[in-house]
Order: sequence, then structure tokens, then C-alpha cells
Amino acid sequence: MTNPLYDALAAPLAGRDTPVLTDAGGTALTGRDLHRMAMAQAAALAGLGLRPGDRMAVQIDKTPQALALYLAALAAGIVFLPLNTAYTADEVEYFVANAGAALLVGSPVRADSLRAVAARNGARFETLDAAGAGSLADLAAGADPGFAPVPRAPDDLAAILYTSGTTGRSKGAMLTHANLLSNAEVLAREWRFTDRDVLLHALPIFHTHGLFVATNVVLLSRGAMIFLPGFKTDQVIASLPAATTMMGVPTFYTRLLDDPRFTRDLVAHMRLFTSGSAPLLAETHVQFETRTGHRILERYGMTETNMNTSNPYDGDRRAGTVGLPLPGVEVKITDPVTGASLPQGEPGMIEVRGPNVFAGYWQMPEKTREELRADGFFITGDIGVIDADGYVSIVGRQKDLIITGGYNVYPKEIELILDEQPGVLESAVIGVPHPDFGEAVVGVIVAQPGAQVDDAALQAAMAERLAKFKQPKHIAVVPELPRNTMGKVQKNLLRQDFATLFR
Ligand code: AMP
Repeated sequence: MTNPLYDALAAPLAGRDTPVLTDAGGTALTGRDLHRMAMAQAAALAGLGLRPGDRMAVQIDKTPQALALYLAALAAGIVFLPLNTAYTADEVEYFVANAGAALLVGSPVRADSLRAVAARNGARFETLDAAGAGSLADLAAGADPGFAPVPRAPDDLAAILYTSGTTGRSKGAMLTHANLLSNAEVLAREWRFTDRDVLLHALPIFHTHGLFVATNVVLLSRGAMIFLPGFKTDQVIASLPAATTMMGVPTFYTRLLDDPRFTRDLVAHMRLFTSGSAPLLAETHVQFETRTGHRILERYGMTETNMNTSNPYDGDRRAGTVGLPLPGVEVKITDPVTGASLPQGEPGMIEVRGPNVFAGYWQMPEKTREELRADGFFITGDIGVIDADGYVSIVGRQKDLIITGGYNVYPKEIELILDEQPGVLESAVIGVPHPDFGEAVVGVIVAQPGAQVDDAALQAAMAERLAKFKQPKHIAVVPELPRNTMGKVQKNLLRQDFATLFR
């Protein structure tokens, strides 16, 4: 009897007396402790009446108990459904209802509203708090930790991860044991993870990056993690000396570079820094190498597919690219309208196929058919280009494409030029409704601290570098760009802010 993910990730912990998780203060939890915690939780879940295949929604703080709950779900065959801790009770209700969750585990701080959500949807409600205590921990304390993991097939669901859904309602991406395990195996091999690795883990664990890329890779390689509740520069700087590797979103690296304590000496012993979830500016890549001597390894993936491409561990890590297709993953560029393959070098829709690609959207067969082709290729919604050496670069999301006067404009091309201008820290380019052109190009910029941005000079630079239809019709200066927890710029919010500019 096998259970692919439990066998690969959790079972090896049972006999391990070395630390698997260490907190910011240096307190360690051994593999055996984490395993025991997970099995007691699995027994508690079974005791609540949850059966293999049932869905469990969790909206809880990042703690060892939260990680154990993921392993408990794997052991008990329960489909794990982690939720962003920033979601309101109304938002949580959508996920609980959509997934038909049998259990909601939430923070006791919001117990009243979440319990009502659970009750309205026929789900049970239990709590776990920021210290790992709560009604679920109490049930686990009284349960038998000798839980026997239930058998699972490779195609059985391990998790449903809802897409971040900046347009329309989120969709539940169904991820199987085989999806997650195949990707963890490939990444651990490609990035050379071993049992000597200590990963600095400051990412949230409700998202594919922190939960699957980071945790699955480390557990599979039998390494350890410094498990921080979130990214705090002081804590990260204090923890780096004990780490060998770090996985981050671009904002982690820009924040570290802003701190003079982040020096070459501090990270001389480190083996690997990876970045993903949002584009890493080529400038950040270069600054990082100048400061530390390390080249950040950028990779590309998404909720529905796990990781698709990665810059090489040995070999050229190219700034501004997301590297080469991972072994076993096919990547092609197609015409967004016809779906036909495009010649090498032309930008178009990125489509991917491989064992990493999800099984479809939970109870949304039509959405699944729209995005997952019968031949197994997933239409990512990202526009990209592949160079002569096979390196993939992402130009932008298709939904961010601007169509102005009938011409297509990819925001990235304009953002790269805006970013180069004196006094500009960063930029986002959006399309907003325009009576003549359908959409008009608008540049939104953040100035460097203390800098004055000269609008006329900016417009002149745009006029010199870009065809008339691509030049922003307006450039706005804002104090900061709206970003979600994974560091992605929320262009939908900017589009709302500037929606009436030309009306
Ligand atoms: P999510 O499903 O929340 O992980 O978001 C996935 C999306 O993030 C992808 O479709 C890309 O648009 C974006 N993304 C992920 N990694 C990168 C990267 N290295 N560079 C640019 N965009 C990325």
C-alpha cells in the first residue's frame, strides 16, 4: 500500500532525530517530533469524521503545526486547501462553499465569523493560532499518534490551490500526488538539494512557492528549514548565517539590498538563492551579484503547473529570463488566437505540458476545457518568447495586454524603458478606457527616494524610443505600486484607480 507524497515527504521524518524546523530563536523541532505531530493531527481529523477525498480548508498562521497539518492531510488522504491569511470571512466563504469543504481550520481570533461560515456550509470548524495552539491541537493531543497512513494512487488529489484570481473568481486548481511529487523530484535534482541543506524559509505556506517548491523540495531531500513566520529583514539577516539556501520573491531581494548589513561576508557560505512568483528586475539581479558575488537563480511557475522553467544551476543564469524548460516539461509558444505554434523568437502564449500540470479546475469543466487542451498542453495566460539558446523570457500576462487603436502593446516593453529613466525606481504600465482608442497606455511610476521626476523629460525619452501608439498618454507618479503578498503588482487595482482618466 503506498501513498506517494506521504511516503516521500513525511515517512522519512519518523526516524529522524535531527532538526527539520528551526525557529528564529534557534529552537529546533526534530523530524520525529514533526512526524508525531502530523500523525496525531491525522488521527484527530479521522476522529472528526473526515474521510479520504474530503476537502479541508485552512486559513491559519505559518507555524510548525500548520506544516504538520499539511502532512496530516497527506497521510489521511484529505485534500488540503490552504487559504491566504489576508482573505476576509466573505472570501473564505466562497472557497469553503466552492470546494464543499468538510472542515475549516481558522484562527481563533476570527472564530465567530469563520464558525458561522463553516456552519452555513455544513462544515466543521476548528482552530489553530499563531502559537500552534487551538481546538485542533487539543484534539491531536488526545489522539493516538500511531495513525496508519491511508493508501493513495498517483492521480489522487493532494491539494486544491485557488488561483490568486485578480480577475473574476478564483478557480480551484486540482493538484495530484503525481503532480507535486514529480515537480519536487525534478527541482531537488536540478537545484542539488541534499540532507546537508538548510533552507531559509520566509515565504507564506498558503501558496505554491512556499508550500510546494520550498517545503516539498526540502522534505524530499531530507534537509532542514529555518521556518520564519514571514519576511522581516532583521530576522532574515540574523538567520542567514545558519542557512545554505534561500528561496524568495523579488521583493525579498530588493529589501535585503536596501540594508547595509546585507554584505558579501554575510552570505559567502550560501549555496543558492532562487527567485520567482513575480519578475526579478535585471537590475536587481546585477546589483545582487555586485554586492554578494551570487547570481540569483530565477525560475517560473504557477499554481496550476508547479514549476515549468528554471535557469541552470551550473551554467549561465541569465538576468531577465526564467531559464530553460525543466526536464520532462515541454514549453511552446503559440499564437494566442489560433493556438498554432509560432517560429522561435516570436512572442506569444506560453503553453506547457508535463507531469507537473494540474488535473483541471475543481468543478469547473468549462474553464478547464478553455485552458487545458485535450493534448495536455496548459494555456498559461503568460506571454513569452524563447531565444535561440532555449531561454524563456516572460513579456507579461495576456490579460495585461493593451489594445490601443487596434494595436497590441505589451506593457513590459514600456516598463523596461521607464525603469531606465533618471529618478524612476519602478513602473507599471496599464491600459485604461479611452473614447477614441478603446484603450490608452498609461504609465504609473514610483520615484526614487528624494528624486523629482521630470514629466517632460520622461515623455521626450518615450517619444525617442517608442512608436507613437506605444507612448504613454499619461504618466502618473504614485508613492508605491500595489502588490500582493507574493510581490506581484496588482494591475487590476491600478486599472480601477485610473479608469476614468479619459472619460
Ligand atoms: P501564481 O499562480 O500565484 O503562482 O502566479 C503565477 C504567475 O506568476 C505566472 O503565471 C506568471 O505570470 C508569474 N510569475 C511566476 N514566476 C515568474 C517569474 N520568474 N517572472 C515573471 N513572472 C512570474
